[in-house]
Amino acid sequence: MQVTAAVVNEPEAPFVFEPLELEEPRADEVLVRVVASGVCHTDDVCRNQGIPVPLPVVLGHEGSGVVERVGANVTDLAPGDHVVLSWGRGCGRCANCLRGDQAYCDDMGRVSFGGTRLTDGTTSLSRDGEDVHSHFIGQSSFATYAVVPEAHAVKVDDDVPLELLGPLGCGVLTGAGAVFDALDVEVGSKILVTGTGAVGLSAIMAANVLGCTPIIAVDTNRERLDLARELGATHTLHPDDGDLAEALAAIAPGGVDNAIETTANPGVLRTALEAVRLRGTCASLGAAPMGTELTLDAFSILLGRTLRGVIVGDGVPSISIPRLIGLYKAGRFPFDRLVTFYDFEDLDQAFQDSASGVTIKPIVRMA
Ligand SMILES: [Zn+2]
Ligand SMILES: [Zn+2]
Repeated sequence: MQVTAAVVNEPEAPFVFEPLELEEPRADEVLVRVVASGVCHTDDVCRNQGIPVPLPVVLGHEGSGVVERVGANVTDLAPGDHVVLSWGRGCGRCANCLRGDQAYCDDMGRVSFGGTRLTDGTTSLSRDGEDVHSHFIGQSSFATYAVVPEAHAVKVDDDVPLELLGPLGCGVLTGAGAVFDALDVEVGSKILVTGTGAVGLSAIMAANVLGCTPIIAVDTNRERLDLARELGATHTLHPDDGDLAEALAAIAPGGVDNAIETTANPGVLRTALEAVRLRGTCASLGAAPMGTELTLDAFSILLGRTLRGVIVGDGVPSISIPRLIGLYKAGRFPFDRLVTFYDFEDLDQAFQDSASGVTIKPIVRMA
């Protein structure tokens, strides 16, 4: 069938909206009519080859849509189902996948960024007989339709606005999952979140669900700090307002139990780690450019603190996404407050507004 997709033909160039040919779903795949797709920093990193992705390619990995057709071996989905597209289940064969740590699949490079089916290296998209890379993070959701492995599509309730749900597959899941799944966050414990973009604000909402106190938010954007407070932060700190380490120590003497660092700034990461109590944990969620170095006082680790990286919140999307929707419906996880909608054709503008901080989480609507 013919679809319209935002194609990346060369790095650092605007998206080109083109008609492409999309194959029928294979036995383990589903055809999804994409309703909307969140815009994530990782798309931009890949467009500019910060993470190498073969070109031409269709990016997009926070899709939501409706299942139109299913392959012969698909058992858990049917036409008409509402789905959120996510990171999938990894290769399913490596040691980490077998342990349930699919976010850390040994074959993540090929699973997420290979631009082809994992099974046989083919693509589902073409242009005048020439292959266009597909299956980006299993999805390639910057298109009106996508052929997606069943493992990358999570069935969701159909009584919530479908166009809102795509970011639950990546950005929102990353922040919330760090709190719910990755770290051992106890009810009423002390938490610090550095950076109040979509990931940081999602972590703050999750910490609020768990009754953390204090919930300390740090950012250089005062509007975002105001929003952080509305979403559950008990304290907000701007680095211009005085010594950050002193302010943190005054709010949480002895340190916070957990810190969530989302800025990918090495200096901020060090501050977050040093704000954690002895035996506490700092999670690093931000994607700094490859090769970025981090300087630490070795004693900050020797004294029993843990610093660890967390990918997409550690969680299993088919468990985590329905849980977040349940919390949203109960009014306890208002992630819609982070969202600004754009028309699909305004995808470049959505990326620009995200980079400049005008919007927190852009979503492009296909229809
Ligand atoms: Zn993402
Ligand atoms: Zn694996």
